[in-house]
This record gives sequence, structure tokens and C-alpha cells, in this order.
Amino acid sequence: MSSASSSKSLSSGICYLVGAGPGDPGLLTLKGKACIEKADVLVYDYLSNPAFLRFARPDAEKIYVGKKARDHAMKQEDINALIVKLTREGKVVTRLKGGDPVLFGRGAEEAAELAEAGVRFELVPGITSAIAGPAYAGIPVTHRNHASQLTIFTGHEDPTKPETALNYAKLAQADGTKVFLMGVERMEEITNALIQHGANPDTPMALVRWATHGGQRTLVATLSTMAQRVRETGFKAPAVAVVGDVVTEREAINWFENRPLFGKRIVVTRTRQQAGELTRELVDLGADVIEVPTIRIEEPKDRRGFAELVKDAHTYDWLIFTSPNGVEAFFHWFYQLYQDARSIGGVKIAAIGPGTAKKIREYRLAVDLMPEKDFVAEGLVQAFKDREDVENQTMLWIKAEETREVIANELTGLRAIVDEAIAYRTVPEREENLEALARIKAEGADVITFTSASTVDHFMALGVDLPAGTQIASIGPVTSEAVRRHGLEPAIEADPHTIPGLVAAVKQLLDA
Ligand code: SAH
Repeated sequence: MSSASSSKSLSSGICYLVGAGPGDPGLLTLKGKACIEKADVLVYDYLSNPAFLRFARPDAEKIYVGKKARDHAMKQEDINALIVKLTREGKVVTRLKGGDPVLFGRGAEEAAELAEAGVRFELVPGITSAIAGPAYAGIPVTHRNHASQLTIFTGHEDPTKPETALNYAKLAQADGTKVFLMGVERMEEITNALIQHGANPDTPMALVRWATHGGQRTLVATLSTMAQRVRETGFKAPAVAVVGDVVTEREAINWFENRPLFGKRIVVTRTRQQAGELTRELVDLGADVIEVPTIRIEEPKDRRGFAELVKDAHTYDWLIFTSPNGVEAFFHWFYQLYQDARSIGGVKIAAIGPGTAKKIREYRLAVDLMPEKDFVAEGLVQAFKDREDVENQTMLWIKAEETREVIANELTGLRAIVDEAIAYRTVPEREENLEALARIKAEGADVITFTSASTVDHFMALGVDLPAGTQIASIGPVTSEAVRRHGLEPAIEADPHTIPGLVAAVKQLLDA
């Protein structure tokens, strides 16, 4: 236990029962996100998107409690006991549940346990798969022309057993749209029961699997043919079933599955903190992105030494930045040491490429020098050569521990005086990527993207064999070289060597 949490008074404990939405990260509520950000402990299951863990504090404890129909990683009683115990210890506990916490989510039972234990809790509703799932398949659950009523029921109970809590006679007669969850495995019994009790066998029906995720799949049939279609196609849970004339609307408004990269599985290998932009752009185009965080940014071993150099930054002629991480580390320390932006003095600033320059501008500083197109060390050296004689110019290069020495060697060769400030190191990320690696192995991938030589090396160090047919997209020549060192060949190299350039390259590759 960290000293921060052990010093908390007991009354500070609270448990948030948060609906994490159906999967698309954009469908988490602002309140849900705030609960993740302030959590001491996150308790989550398999239907809640692991991407949300990125919002958590780095020191937050993360507990996976599983929950697929058959592989209960933890029993419901144990989950209840766990959240009560953690909350009692004075912790802020955020319990993430797929969809909405009280729609077949047993959120009410967890709330009741917390209430009985006398600890504080809040229910934070979420977007349910029962409505969002069909919507992402182009199916509105109500519609002026087709349905003014919606019935939601569970498909978990066996309708052929006498003790079922559902009245299929009434369900079958209900007007409007019917949605059922957890029903893939009993499709035959459920559809038969509805038909036997008078539902029209020709009613259109759809199943939406992993709705709102990049890997969403939709199967359309009728009430009488769906069970057979499920068998034929090997369609699996988790899926939302929707029955009713509203299904026909899909022909006109199937928006999600019609985006350019829909159905393409793309692996993004970056640090957790950085994966954002690339993932977002690919997801916006409809791709099914699997993030494999291979590396993590840590403070340099010699923090003091770095801080000293940052303190002296204003005494140099040039500051050279070669990564957004370096910019962040530099200004983190700079504003610990100084209160006034003018403390940076008249130093000129060089950036290796647009991503780094963008980060510098976020700190409201202009970039004096950047390569026109080769956003690599050689390009930066060339840009200096083209600009001016650097003899006797003093330069502070803010870099990663493992960066190639090209910049220092070449600029020193031009008689500049270069000091190196090691701002951070990249270390292998071992947590949290096991699930992603298992998915790649099981389902394969269309493209894997690499955005730096070190991510290539770190990914290869994880020891995963790329599934046959996976193509490699590299951000630039240095990264491509690293790929070749591992005996592989990039199918495409981005030009320009930027994230948008890489996204364009992936599109081109998949269009071909
Ligand atoms: N509380 C959840 C439902 C939990 S019951 C909610 O409001 O969405 C679990 C069932 O929900 C699954 O068996 C499946 O039928 C459905 N489900 C949840 N998320 C889903 C998704 N992204 N795609 C398809 N079905 C989903």
C-alpha cells in the first residue's frame, strides 16, 4: 500500500459503479472518465475497454475480474467483497462495467452490498450496448415508421425450462422492436419460442458482435433463419440481437461499417502515452486497432545531471530537440526550476520534425530550424549546414538515453560544441499487453505500424511471431532499417516521416 492511501481517513473511501459504454472509447461519459482519473483502484471486466486504463493515474492499482459466460475469473460474491473491502480501506474505487451498470450488469447487486456495508458509492450510468450496438449497425431501436416501443430482455435464460422468468407468450406479442443480450448461445431456443408464441417468422433480425469496436460484425437474417445462420457462420458472443422492422433501416444508414478502413486490423506499437494520435486517426477511418505498448518512458538515471543542464539552457546558442518526449521532459524540469518563460533567454531552437516542433509550439515557443523533408538526424544536420556556419556555436541536445549519436558526431565534426542532455529513457513495457498479443496471435493482423527504431527492437524483444500475411508500415528510413535488422521487410515507408504520413501510407497499402 502506498503511503498516500494508508494515510487516508476511512471516510474518504468511495466506490463508483461506472458504465464504461459498449466499447468505442468515445462512448464513455465525462463523469465516467473523471472517476477513472481519480481512482486509487480500478476494478474492470472483459466487456469494458482496457484502453480506458490510460486515463488512470500511473500509480493506480488495476484489478481484472474477468467475466465471460464460462470463464468467471472471479465470482460475483468475491467481486462484491473485494469492492467493499477496498472502499472500506478508504480508497477511491472505480468499478468499470460494460455498457450501463444496471442493465443486466449486476450493478444493483454491487450497489446493495456497498449500501449494506455502509460505505459511500455512486452509480454512473453508461451507454448500453442494447441501444448503441444496433445504432452502430445502422439500426435505430425506435422509428416513426416502424416501432414506437422497445422491449429489452435477457437471452441468458433457457426458454425451454419451466423455471424461466421470462414470459415468451407476452414477449412474442409485444409490438415494436425487441432487443436481447447474452443470447447467441441460445439462439435456436429463443427464436423458436418467439415464433411458437405467434411472432412473425419473417421479422427482420440482426446480430451485432463486438458492437462499436473496430472489430464489429453484423449478421442479418430473419427470426426463422437466424439460428441456422449463426451455426453456418460460427457467429460468437458477445452480441446484441435486434428483432423488428427497424432492421431494414440498415440498408440506408449503415454508417459505421462503411468507413474506409473498416474491418482492417492494425497493430500500433507505441508508448501508452503516445499511442493516442496514431490510434485515433486510424480508428476514425474505421480500423480495428490493437495497441501494443512496447515501451514506456521513464526518467533518466541521472535526473540531477539532466536538471543541471536544463538550468543552464539559456547559456547555449541552440537547443536541439529530437523527440516530443524530450520536449516534454525538458519543459517539465524547466518550469520546476524557473517561474518565468523568459528564463530561457535568447537561445535558438531546432526540431527534428513536425511532431517535435508541434510539441515545442505547445509551450508557446517558435522553432528556428527544422529539416524540410528528411525528419531524421541526418536531415537535421543537413538543415544546420544549409543555414549557417556552426563553428564554435554551443548546442544542447536533449535526447533519449539510447539515441543514435549521429547528431553529436556530425555537428561536432562541423566544429560546433555539443552537450548532451539525457532527458528520458525508454524501457520495455511488460504490463498490460498480454491480452493484445493474444489477440494478434489468435486473429492475425493486416498491418503492423512502427514509429521508431526502438519500438521495433522492443516489439521484437516481446518474442511474438507476426502472423502470416501481416504487412509492415514504417514511419521512415531509420525505422525501416531496424525492421530489416530483424530479417523483415517493410511493405511501405511513410513519406513524410510523420504520423499523418504513416496513416496515409497505411491507407495506400490497404487500398492497393
Ligand atoms: N450492462 C451491459 C450488458 C451486460 S450483459 C450493457 O448495458 O451493455 C452482457 C451482454 O451484453 C453480452 O452478452 C452481449 O449480449 C451484450 N454486449 C455488451 N457489450 C457488447 C458489445 N460491445 N457488442 C455486442 N454485445 C455487447
